[in-house]
Amino acid sequence: MTARVLVVDDILANVRLLEAKLTAEYFEVVTAMNGLDALDAIQRTKPDIVLLDVMMPGIDGVEVCKRIKSNPSTQHIPVVMVTALDQPEDRLRGLQAGADDFLTKPVNDISLFCRVKSLVRLKMLTDELRIRAESNGTVGLLLKSDLGLVQGPGNVLLVDHRDSSIERITAALQGHHTTQVASDPIKAIEIATSATIPFELLIVNLGSETYDGLRLVSQFRSLEATRQTPILVIVDPTDQQLLLRALDMGVNDYLMRPVDRQELLARANTQVRRWRYTEQLRMNVKASIELAVTDSLTGLYNRRYLETHLGHLLEHHVNRGKALSVLAIDVDFFKAINDSHGHFSGDKVLQELADRIRNTTRSIDLCCRTGGEEFVLVLPGTDLIAATVIAERLRKAVAGKSFAVKPSTAITVTISIGVAAIGGVDDTPTLLIDRADTALYAAKREGRNRVNLAA
Ligand code: GH3
Ligand code: MG
Ligand code: MG
Repeated sequence: MTARVLVVDDILANVRLLEAKLTAEYFEVVTAMNGLDALDAIQRTKPDIVLLDVMMPGIDGVEVCKRIKSNPSTQHIPVVMVTALDQPEDRLRGLQAGADDFLTKPVNDISLFCRVKSLVRLKMLTDELRIRAESNGTVGLLLKSDLGLVQGPGNVLLVDHRDSSIERITAALQGHHTTQVASDPIKAIEIATSATIPFELLIVNLGSETYDGLRLVSQFRSLEATRQTPILVIVDPTDQQLLLRALDMGVNDYLMRPVDRQELLARANTQVRRWRYTEQLRMNVKASIELAVTDSLTGLYNRRYLETHLGHLLEHHVNRGKALSVLAIDVDFFKAINDSHGHFSGDKVLQELADRIRNTTRSIDLCCRTGGEEFVLVLPGTDLIAATVIAERLRKAVAGKSFAVKPSTAITVTISIGVAAIGGVDDTPTLLIDRADTALYAAKREGRNRVNLAA
C-alpha cells in the first residue's frame, strides 16, 4: 500500500523523523512547518492522509484540522493529530475538531503504521465509493450524509474473559455505547451472527490464556455478519508479535493494557463513526445503482437495464440451446383512462398493473417498464407455447378484476400482448423485441384485450 502523507510540525527534527520512517515504508511524504503552509500543501498536493502536530505558532493544529474538515473539498482527507503524552486535553480538542485519530509523541512505529495504514485503507474505500457515487450524480447526497452521523450509541460486542477488565471497559463505554459481553469465542460468534441490529464495533481482548483471540479475529473476518465490522484489540505491551499478527489480519485499531478509559472511548467513537460513514456510503451507492436501473413509479426495471441485460440472457440461452421468450405488453386505451380519471389515477393503474405482473411471474423473470404504459417481460427457459399460457394468464389477471385506484373509483383495464421467442443463433435483443412489438400491434388491430404470437 502506498499513499501520499503530509507531515506537519514546526520542529524540523520531528518532521525529518516521521519523514524517514514513512519513506522507509514506501510512503510518499510531503512536509509543511506551519498551519498556513499545511493548508496550502493540502490544496496543492491532495494528500491521502495528514499527520498534524497540535502545538504550532500561528494557527495551531486544531485550527488547521477544523479548516480541513469544514471545507467540502478536503473534509474526506483523514487527519491524525500528533500530541504530547502529557496533554490529554489536546486529544479531546483534536477529536472535537473532527480529527480521525491521534498519535502520541514520541511516536512508536507500530502505532504510526497501524493508524496510517488503517486510515489510508479507509480512504481508498471511500474514494472508490465516492467516484462511483459521483458517476451516478449522487455525491451531493454523500457530502451531506457524513455530517450528523456521530449521534446515537454504537452497538458494541466485547469479547473478554476477565471480570475486572470487562467491568472497566463497559464502564468506559457506558452512556456512549451499548455493550454486549461474550466471555468466550463460541458465544461471541453466536451473538454476532444472530444479532438483529448488526454490531458496529468488536472489541477483543487478545491476552487470554483460555482462548485463541487471533483465531476469533480471523473468524470475524470471514463471517458474512462481521466481515466489514471494525475490530479493536486489547493487548499486553509485551505481546508485540501478537499485535503485529492481529494488524496483519486486518484489525482496525488496538489499545495497550492497562486500558486508558478516555483513550478507549475516543477510539471506540472513532471506529463507530467511520463504520457509519462507510456504511452510509455503501448504502448510497447501492441506492443510486438501484435508481439507475429501476423505474421509480413501479419499481420494475427500466429500459436501460433491459437493453443491457437482455443481451447477456440471450447469449447465455442461445449458447446452451435453451428457450427464452419475450412479452411486449401495452395498456389498451390508456389515454382515455387518463382523460376521464386524471393523470394521478393513471399512475395508480400503472402501479397496480406492475403488481399484477409481478404476481403472475416468477422471480427469475425480468419485468421492465419500457415506456409510459408499455412493459416488457423476459421469460428465461420458456418456449413460445409456455409463454403464451403465461401471457394469457396475465391478460386475464388484468381484465378479470377492475383496478380500485380510489375507494370510490374502480376502472376496468385491459392489455394487449405480443409474444416472441428466440429464433436462431443470430437473433439479437432488438430483433426479438421487434418481433414481440409487431405481434402486439397486430393484437391491437385485431381488437385489443388479446394475446398474439409472432409469426
Ligand atoms: P392503445 O390502445 O392504442 O395503446 O391506446 P393508448 O391510449 O393506450 O395509447 P397512446 O400511446 O395513444 O397513449 C398512451 C398514453 O399514456 C398517453 C400518455 O399521456 C400516457 N402516459 C404515458 N406515460 C404515463 C405515465 O407515466 N402516467 C400516466 N398517468 N400516463 C402516462
Ligand atoms: Mg396503450
Ligand atoms: Mg403505447
